[in-house]
Amino acid sequence: MSQHIVPAPSQTIYPFPPKPAKLSEQQKAEHITDIKRLLLEKNAVLVAHYYTDPEIQALAEATGGCVADSLEMARFGNEHPATTLIVAGVRFMGETAKILTPEKTVLMPDLGAECSLDLGCPEAAFTAFCDAHPEHTVVVYANTSAAVKARADWIVTSSIALEIVEHLDSEEKSIIWGPDRHLGSYIAKQTGADMLLWQGECVVHDEFSAKALREMKALHPDAAILVHPESPASVVQMADAVGSTSQLIAAAKALPQQKLIVATDKGIFYKMQQAVPEKTLYEAPTAGNGATCRSCAHCPWMAMNGLKAIQTALEQGGVAHEIHVDAKLRDKALVPLNRMLNFAAELKMKVQGNA
Ligand code: SF4
Repeated sequence: MSQHIVPAPSQTIYPFPPKPAKLSEQQKAEHITDIKRLLLEKNAVLVAHYYTDPEIQALAEATGGCVADSLEMARFGNEHPATTLIVAGVRFMGETAKILTPEKTVLMPDLGAECSLDLGCPEAAFTAFCDAHPEHTVVVYANTSAAVKARADWIVTSSIALEIVEHLDSEEKSIIWGPDRHLGSYIAKQTGADMLLWQGECVVHDEFSAKALREMKALHPDAAILVHPESPASVVQMADAVGSTSQLIAAAKALPQQKLIVATDKGIFYKMQQAVPEKTLYEAPTAGNGATCRSCAHCPWMAMNGLKAIQTALEQGGVAHEIHVDAKLRDKALVPLNRMLNFAAELKMKVQGNA
């Protein structure tokens, strides 16, 4: 195995958004009533990511939408008869939905909902890096802008990254991987592939602490540990199950333990607890005050998808809420995206992505 580290925008200070204002129960009920009406009036469907707040996931379920990972959100939106998709997630998810379904209107509650992986992989710098290594196959994670996707040979999600990199390695391809360094390092270790790693990170998963996790495990020795591979290697090493959001929910069901310590965004607890109502779930500990993420295992950008913002997006739409992807960019990004979908179809496996 050969892993190379490349310089990247390290120590980046991300401009975290302010936490949304708390709503009273009455305000929530009023927003929910209005959103249900607007979804019908606008022929729209709400698709929500696993990391959004539980009330948003519940609303998506109650209105015939879906709660899923980024790729499944885009595919659901593509297949649903609604002409407008309201994507409760972060910006790259809206873009992926638009790439797959350009004929539909794709709205986001807040276009300022970013992702540190996307922000840490600017198109110009990444393109320059790829151009400096033209012999490498470029594999990018779904958590990237449409422009970075358009530069890639392959797009992958966390549930199929291993298989695709194994496939490329079997063809003796050297790989540029971006942007998540922890996931790239995990895949390089698992596959032995020759990979150049861009040094991006998810501010939520990067925060999980192996030391604090060992202390928690000592308190609950009978608990299984579930870890998303965007977490540091020292945390991944302690896992009983490593996988994407959907894979972790499946692991929660399959593992015999009644107690589960979960190292991913705590938004996943809504669907995971539905899957295993008899089990006890614990949030994996973060590095606390020393951490860079001020959200404590909850993505600050996912938290922007509040009820008020969803209602406003449905009422107003337009430049403040609608996702646009340049047609030429879309055509380019569709090539590596379809490559992944076709690869998955050949494997007869369902691709379920991350963030
Ligand atoms: S949880 Fe991490 S990977 Fe997911 S959207 Fe937030 S910053 Fe990006």
